[in-house]
Amino acid sequence: MLKHFLEDVQIKNKLKKQIYFYIQTHGETSKNELKKHFNVPQSTLSRMLDSLEQEQLIFMSGQGTASGGRPPMLYRVSPTAGYYFGVDLSRTHVTTVLLNANFNVLAEATFKLDKTYTPTKTIGQIIEQIEKFKNQYIGNQELIIGMGIGSVGPIDREKGVILSPESFQANGWENVEISSLLFDALKIPTYLSNGVDTAGLAEYHLGSYHNEKLLYMISGYGIRGAKIENGISSNINPGDASAWGHMMIEKNGKLCVCGNRGCLMAYSSFSAMIDEVHQVFPGMNVNDADDLVPKVNSGNGEIRRIVHRAAEYYGHGVANMVNILHPDAVILHGKLIYECDSYFEKVKETIEQSRYQKEKSLMIKRGDLGDRATAVGAGIEVLYRLVKFS
Ligand SMILES: [Zn+2]
Repeated sequence: MLKHFLEDVQIKNKLKKQIYFYIQTHGETSKNELKKHFNVPQSTLSRMLDSLEQEQLIFMSGQGTASGGRPPMLYRVSPTAGYYFGVDLSRTHVTTVLLNANFNVLAEATFKLDKTYTPTKTIGQIIEQIEKFKNQYIGNQELIIGMGIGSVGPIDREKGVILSPESFQANGWENVEISSLLFDALKIPTYLSNGVDTAGLAEYHLGSYHNEKLLYMISGYGIRGAKIENGISSNINPGDASAWGHMMIEKNGKLCVCGNRGCLMAYSSFSAMIDEVHQVFPGMNVNDADDLVPKVNSGNGEIRRIVHRAAEYYGHGVANMVNILHPDAVILHGKLIYECDSYFEKVKETIEQSRYQKEKSLMIKRGDLGDRATAVGAGIEVLYRLVKFS
């Protein structure tokens, strides 16, 4: 059973887990490729593959092209060997997805959060959703490998605790032991991460960026970033994903929520843009990002100017991170990024103009997974924690 196999931490199981992980992360894989990668005797590899096949964790999916001799066998992971849940817990909504062992999304559901969504109410609704998916799609609890949560921070990853996020609208989101609360109710091992890390992992994994370094950036009410290398995020400690939004971008600049002046957040967050709109148009009905996007897209000149200026500041901030971290690709995520072409283009253009070594190629793109990225990545994170970090 996949769950027991992945939870087994004995050393003798390590190589077999790594082989499973390689096939999972690379898709259809030939025996020759595995042999080259792991550099183990043919007999050892065959024994491992046979055993994985017998346990129905992988299957022979076909034959590759022969380069002299017999054509190589190709392997894939069995999609029904186990299931993962992924939860995106953000300021405005909760999205839950169910993934099969291949990381295909089998089911997805979202509910919006407002001022009434205390931790008790929110967690209760997540439990209800998971139970529903479980009964509808899985049945057997033993097939559930784990659940990942991608949350707004700051969080304690090890303990699975949401510490003191500024951004929730309801009260009570302090020191919420979300992993143990969910485990007690559902008996599913639960892993807490920052949402930007799981979203970055989803893009990394499903976009097949195996040997590349990604910079994944979310701009919204907060500005968060992650450097993803080999599927592992650079964010480790509480508050480090959110800290990216507090890089100083203007000396003696605008006052930020953190108490410092000139932070990127003070110029580029939704709240900063909405405040500026209200300064120019007092009383205008622009209270959140849903109100802002159509105003920019419909061509309100003054609002476009405000949003494009925020995009320029943001582009400078991202370029700073590019200069420090040297990623191969920058993946941008956020409502304005996805829904407002002129904002996205302005950010992209500014990164290009202000980064160092412009001749070095750098891919700058929107996330392929869009709004789903955080939840899907939270599910993927479960496998990474069980194999890569064990
Ligand atoms: Zn700040």
